[in-house]
Amino acid sequence: MKTETAKCSECGVASLFETITLAGGHHGPILLPGLGKWAFLGLPQFGLANFRVVSCEACGLTRFNADADARAKLPTAKQWRRI
Ligand SMILES: [Zn+2]
Repeated sequence: MKTETAKCSECGVASLFETITLAGGHHGPILLPGLGKWAFLGLPQFGLANFRVVSCEACGLTRFNADADARAKLPTAKQWRRI
């Protein structure tokens, strides 16, 4: 059985790597405000949401996707507006 390998949307090379990381640090911006697990407390600095990060070894294109729990909060989070 042949498995499909994901290819980079920029260069087409099949050399992608992924990880999960917090969407903010102690000294940087919170990139997914209001979407963490403690967002209901109105304290965006606690319980930061996660990004799934995919980076291409060949060209360096890096994508960030909010995880499913964070995406589920988008419609009701006061820090976000639909565009
Ligand atoms: Zn690439």
